Amino acid sequence: MDFGVNKPEIHQKSSTVGRLKKRIVRLKDIALQYKQAKCARDTLISISNIASKAETLNCFYQGVHQHLQQIMPADNFFIATLCTQTNRIDIPFFVDEKDDCFSVNTAEQISKKLWKDLTGHVIKTGETFLFCGKDIDEQISAQGITPQGPACKSWLGTPIMHGGTPVGVIVVKSYSSSDCYGQPEIELLSFICQHIEGVTERLKQHAQLEQAISIRTRELITAYNDLKLEVTERIKAEKLQSSLYKIANLSQSYIDDNDFYRELHNILCELLEANDCYIAMHDKKKNWLNFPFYSSENSNNIHEGRGYKDGLTEYVMKIERPILFSKDDILLMTEQKLIFQETPFCLNVPLIKQWMGTPLIIQQKVRGSLVVHHNEQDVLFHEKDLELLNFVAQHIAAAIERKESKEAMQCSYKLLEKQVDKRTKELEKSNKELEKEISRRKKVEQQLIYDAKHDPLTGLPNRAMFMERLQQAINHVQRHQDDTFALMFIDLDKFKLINDTLGHIEGDRFLVETADRLKLCIRQNDTLGRLGGDEFVILLDSIQHTNDAIEIADRVLQLLSQPYSLNEHKFYSSASIGITISTQTTSCTENMLKNADMAMYQAKAKGRGRYVLHQPSHTMNPTPKVAS
Ligand code: GH3
Ligand code: MG
Repeated sequence: MDFGVNKPEIHQKSSTVGRLKKRIVRLKDIALQYKQAKCARDTLISISNIASKAETLNCFYQGVHQHLQQIMPADNFFIATLCTQTNRIDIPFFVDEKDDCFSVNTAEQISKKLWKDLTGHVIKTGETFLFCGKDIDEQISAQGITPQGPACKSWLGTPIMHGGTPVGVIVVKSYSSSDCYGQPEIELLSFICQHIEGVTERLKQHAQLEQAISIRTRELITAYNDLKLEVTERIKAEKLQSSLYKIANLSQSYIDDNDFYRELHNILCELLEANDCYIAMHDKKKNWLNFPFYSSENSNNIHEGRGYKDGLTEYVMKIERPILFSKDDILLMTEQKLIFQETPFCLNVPLIKQWMGTPLIIQQKVRGSLVVHHNEQDVLFHEKDLELLNFVAQHIAAAIERKESKEAMQCSYKLLEKQVDKRTKELEKSNKELEKEISRRKKVEQQLIYDAKHDPLTGLPNRAMFMERLQQAINHVQRHQDDTFALMFIDLDKFKLINDTLGHIEGDRFLVETADRLKLCIRQNDTLGRLGGDEFVILLDSIQHTNDAIEIADRVLQLLSQPYSLNEHKFYSSASIGITISTQTTSCTENMLKNADMAMYQAKAKGRGRYVLHQPSHTMNPTPKVAS
């Protein structure tokens, strides 16, 4: 059968087929290479990704190993790092089918071995080391290298460089003769080494950053806590300050004792868990403990007081300092017979979890104690609370002292007031008596003055008083030349006869009656007086004319001539009157009286029962008149 093809053609065709076959083989090879290259590229990209994302070197090493296994024999793979400070070689990542060096060696021992091994050689030289397929011992013995661990068929180590200095090695090895590393593996490991350096650097910076952030965060937390503490302390201090102000104000207030202690307790409760609290005061004279304040959740808040013996309250007062007891402390002290030997009834000790007491020192003497206790599981007093209690106790003591001194002052005020009141009453009484005495003396004095100036029988002005008035009248006319007054001297006629016939008493009555009649004859401003015996005088003030005096003399003569009723008998009398009128030269009372007296005697001489006007040469001269 001829297919129409000749031999050259056949030969040509067969060579073409051969070429094509070769080409196919080459293409297959190229395709394989391409596939391997793609795989290698993907691996490198993946490693790059891991390098940029890994958060720890261990993660990175694991990722590298996984990817590496996909493109090369890497079942035995480790990474060695050099600590430049200790010069120790560490193995942060190690996978090996046969080598179990970690199970039998310490890190130090491993490091020593690695320094002798190929790993140390790579670090020392800073160069990649590769052997493949030949007997390794021959290759390395010449370089003074002592291989460690199980013998392998292929070994490739690439240095990890930092700043031109080797800081580690990345190693792959194989125990299989079929595996052999070459240039691509060297390049691959070199690539990974660069990334390891980058990742190490990045993680180092990250770690440094983390550390810086952590330090800063810690600093901030510390500062925040300090601030918080300061704020808390300040709030506490303010609260304490405010409480102390309240205590100070309280001690100045006028509230009674019960309210005072209750308010104190309220203030203390703002600072402490102080539901169970009491104030004990020692009455030394009675050897007695009083409880001016007693607050307890388990009792009726009244404590009658008890003898001063050996309770905890007394213990605090004896040691004179604040003290905080736990339940165990109290039991121990009881066992040691320091307390409660005489007062086992004092405290229900099993119930008390903590007991704090502080002495109340007033005027340098322990006068009592302030006590707070509790039986709560969730409450815990600390030394700070004891300090606070002591601090508050000092202010309470000061408040009690102020209150006591205030009360003492009020008491002494009251005493003083009482004394003042008593003294005032005594004084008032003696004042009244004194006033009475003064009044009596005044009366006596007035009476004496009156008596000294009045006639006791008729009550008329006596000679002394009359002469004073006469002097005043003279003084007046001397100042007022136009004014004139008259002096009238009246002597009863034959008065002796009345005394002699009717007796002296009737004579007196006659004189009194005469005085009354004479009063009727004068004006308001005139002065009637009795000089003694049966002699009367009249000072006629401010007369216009001598006739004014004569008119009054007439009236006197007329009234005295009226009958007197004496001793049931009618009796007639008369009087003789001498009149003198003041002149511009009148200056002497005695002269004036003498003139009037002389005129009166003239009237007597002329037959009595008349008046005579004293006649100085130039004065008025009316005719003397006889009473009818
Ligand atoms: P004559 O007319 O001359 O005046 O005479 P007469 O009797 O009035 O005498 P005279 O004036 O001299 O005497 C006054 C008498 O008054 C003298 C005295 O015994 C009397 N006599 C003096 N004082 C009191 C007195 O106080 N009470 C009484 N009853 N008689 C007194
Ligand atoms: Mg007479």
